Amino acid sequence: MTTDMIIKCDRSAKVLSGNKEYHPSSELKMHLDVYKERPDIRSVVHAHPQYATSFAVAGIPLNKCVLPEAIIVIGAVPIAPYGLPSTMEIPDRARPFIRTSDAILLENHGALTLGTSLLDAYHKMETLEHTASIVWKAIQLGNLNVLPGEERDRLMTLREKFNLPGRVTACDATPMPSSTSVASGSGELPAGIDEATIRSIAEQVIGRLGAR
Ligand SMILES: [Zn+2]
Repeated sequence: MTTDMIIKCDRSAKVLSGNKEYHPSSELKMHLDVYKERPDIRSVVHAHPQYATSFAVAGIPLNKCVLPEAIIVIGAVPIAPYGLPSTMEIPDRARPFIRTSDAILLENHGALTLGTSLLDAYHKMETLEHTASIVWKAIQLGNLNVLPGEERDRLMTLREKFNLPGRVTACDATPMPSSTSVASGSGELPAGIDEATIRSIAEQVIGRLGAR
């Protein structure tokens, strides 16, 4: 993206300046709605980063106390219900979450971050995607270690001390149920897969590797 692609609009979505070949984002309504709803916000970043969007598609909010930086900067990240792109469905459904959070997942769509400056909103998007990537990888490793409530409270006190602008919802400090931990799995095979099938697949794979 280059600077000539920037389209300047006013609060009523009227285009003020910019290259005539380009149009404002189809999600302009959502951006404008944030400014209307949150006078403290001066910048909105909307993107579809892989890991954050994966959680938005899986319907799993990033609301656990995991990384200290994320707990302080973006807090618990909720998922706004799905809405048809470019319509008022998206701002209408995101609005309740915009009131209490500066980082929101959009169900089956992407992510949204709000800031007091363009860099602030951009950094929140980076923190959100980094958190989503780390949570995903920790789950692959078999455990998501959730920080306890006392630690969250200490971090939230730090947030107050730093006098950070914006709004965050406190993260959930409830430990993950042990059934989600791969390490403590029962060792049972998924339905429909038996030992013989696995042996047959393994033999085929080994056979192909050997044939290389
Ligand atoms: Zn989008």
